[in-house]
Amino acid sequence: MILQMVKEIKRSGKKYFECEACNFVYKDKKIAEECEAYCKKHYACSIEITKHAIKI
Ligand SMILES: [Zn+2]
Repeated sequence: MILQMVKEIKRSGKKYFECEACNFVYKDKKIAEECEAYCKKHYACSIEITKHAIKI
């Protein structure tokens, strides 16, 4: 089992979650965790996941 360590970011009162592997940022913690799990397993990003990434 891989321990998910997504980074929590706070910007203007809102919480965001960053994949520590690829540094994409998500509003949804679950998606950030999925991204990180995928990134660490495949050493690459999933376009299906990173399309949910946001810019902060
Ligand atoms: Zn990632």
